[in-house]
Amino acid sequence: MIQLYAPLNFLGVLYREIKQGLTDLERMFGLLRANREVEDGTDAPALRVSHGPEVRFERVSFAYDSDRPILSEVDFTMRPGTITAVVGPSGAGKSTLARLLYRFYDVSGGRILVDGQDIRSVTQHSLRAAIGIVPQDTVLFNDTLGYNVAYGRPGASAAEIEDVCRSAQLHGFIARLPQGYETPVGERGLKLSGGEKQRVAIARMLLKDPAILVLDEATSALDTRNEQAIQGALRTAAAGRTTLVIAHRLSTVVDADRVLVLDHGRIAESGTHAALLEQDGVYARMWEAQAQQPEEPPALPDAEGAS
Ligand code: ADP
Ligand code: MG
Repeated sequence: MIQLYAPLNFLGVLYREIKQGLTDLERMFGLLRANREVEDGTDAPALRVSHGPEVRFERVSFAYDSDRPILSEVDFTMRPGTITAVVGPSGAGKSTLARLLYRFYDVSGGRILVDGQDIRSVTQHSLRAAIGIVPQDTVLFNDTLGYNVAYGRPGASAAEIEDVCRSAQLHGFIARLPQGYETPVGERGLKLSGGEKQRVAIARMLLKDPAILVLDEATSALDTRNEQAIQGALRTAAAGRTTLVIAHRLSTVVDADRVLVLDHGRIAESGTHAALLEQDGVYARMWEAQAQQPEEPPALPDAEGAS
């Protein structure tokens, strides 16, 4: 009986992990449920991925509904170990790029390559294992802070959890709580601020240690301390990985190796922050609009909430 029970219990835990994982991902991508149409090919191999791989969107077109194109021939290459920032108005298709890379949907035209491999030709499991996502709106489970971080890699030791929390600039905050890592959070526990939740997501991601990092920065105003803590944590997080950041903060854009300006599903402009300012086009207008509101928190215009 015990022999039978143990594996079943293990499966129960595993089921809980997977189910919560999907719920988390679906919520972070604003999906009602994962798209069931995306399937592994027979005998699909695992993705072979270097530490900071090259990621290429090759003339990618996409539509959720066939009568309304969202992306049109989007073409760019993220060079190994670099940071690519995507900016643009709400509804431009920025989060859709992340959803396609994670293969929640398949492209309608073109292809996405990771280290030269079409992501449709490899297993979804291996693809998703290579990608870490820090969403705009992190979902916390009704469990302890420690559990919420460990979720990035179930089975991680307490020392590993503390280590990533230090890197995510979260350890000091946790250490000051009377119950520390055992503090219950979520709906029935301690309410964390947006910035604290985002640092939980960063810690989770660091524990997962993915080769590709996708960040959807929060638009909500963060206080200066939180803003600085997050910037520091993100810089650590991006080091050595290939990073795609949907950027709302000017600091991120300035630091990026390349900025893509997405407008109505097309790349309107691309280049470094400095080159784009010089070009004096759409990006320069966005930047000027920002500069005229010095009292506002540094955020680029994107009116949407958590999508
Ligand atoms: P952004 O992140 O730039 O604000 P998104 O990539 O989230 O934009 O969305 C681009 C467009 O696609 C928007 O017009 C949005 O309404 C639409 N869209 C997003 N998700 C879906 C979906 N699941 N079904 C249909 N349309 C969608
Ligand atoms: Mg978005």
